[in-house]
Amino acid sequence: MERHDVDVLLVSVGRDLPYLVGYEAMPLERLTMLLVPREGEATLVVPRLEAPRVVPQPDVFTVVPWGETDDPVAMVAGLLPQPAVAAVGDTMWARFLVELLGHWDTARTRYVRATEVMNDLRMVKDAAEIAALRAAGAAVDRIAVRLQRGEIALVGRTEAQVSAELSRQIREEGHERVNFAIVAAGENAASPHHHPGERVIRDGEIVLCDFGGTMAGYCSDITRCVHLGPPPAEVVEAYAVLQQAQAAGVAAGLVGAACEAVDRAARQVIAAAGYGEYFIHRTGHGIGMEEHEDPYMVEGNQTPIAAGHAFSVEPGIYLPGRWGMRLEDIVVATPAGPESMNSADHSLVVL
Ligand code: ZN
Ligand code: ZN
Ligand code: ZN
Repeated sequence: MERHDVDVLLVSVGRDLPYLVGYEAMPLERLTMLLVPREGEATLVVPRLEAPRVVPQPDVFTVVPWGETDDPVAMVAGLLPQPAVAAVGDTMWARFLVELLGHWDTARTRYVRATEVMNDLRMVKDAAEIAALRAAGAAVDRIAVRLQRGEIALVGRTEAQVSAELSRQIREEGHERVNFAIVAAGENAASPHHHPGERVIRDGEIVLCDFGGTMAGYCSDITRCVHLGPPPAEVVEAYAVLQQAQAAGVAAGLVGAACEAVDRAARQVIAAAGYGEYFIHRTGHGIGMEEHEDPYMVEGNQTPIAAGHAFSVEPGIYLPGRWGMRLEDIVVATPAGPESMNSADHSLVVL
């Protein structure tokens, strides 16, 4: 906070709060807010009815409960001298910030994103966090292997039914939360964030599955494609390019390299094969307590990769109206090179 000239850190709904104190705010209308002044004690302002959920840590923060008729924003404003710079959590409800603007003279306080302070901490995963990512990755790997062995029925079922089964397996494998289970068949696979629906999966098409959840607080995220019956030559050809691009992206995830180098490495392979215009998104995103977080593997991001950075490498090729394909692993940068959290077969498995 001193380095970034921040006087107070205000975090609420979202992952910064559990990252700092192990408590997760209910994402509802009542205010929960952790106030961390640059010097002095941290305070957790919490609705009285939710206070029993807080595990007290008197050496870390003081709990200030508020009642149903109190004005919690006024309480927050009154707990501190007006700061010159307040760092505000990205996912705090806008209403609380807007109300806070009414309590503190806006000419005297500058607001910045809490990521200025939090990113330095959250982007670099320590050994326990990497172990959690590894365990979550292994859990979704087991599901991907079952998919590739044909143990998850596809033909004749709707995308939504397969998505529901993936979600059930994500929970059974130990995740406390399902974050997404994209199932996209045939032409639907050309939409990277397709919402699985009533489309029935048929023989002779590609099925893209991109799924993940949160396990012991840390996220998994994997994409594998299978082909039902022998794939046409153009799909085989494109997939070979995709697989090579993904491997190149992973290999570029070296400590000291720029984040954009990962994107460039994968994109170069796809562009050289003539599919450049069909790779319509960045190559990856950071991952940790959130399914998407900094650092992003995108052209223009010159942040140097550090040991402990965790991110996805997930290039795709999408032919509108026809088919799409994506291949995704989570990778942790280490001094010994990139370590993949996923090892399920990277080829286009034919079922
Ligand atoms: Zn995505
Ligand atoms: Zn994914
Ligand atoms: Zn992803």
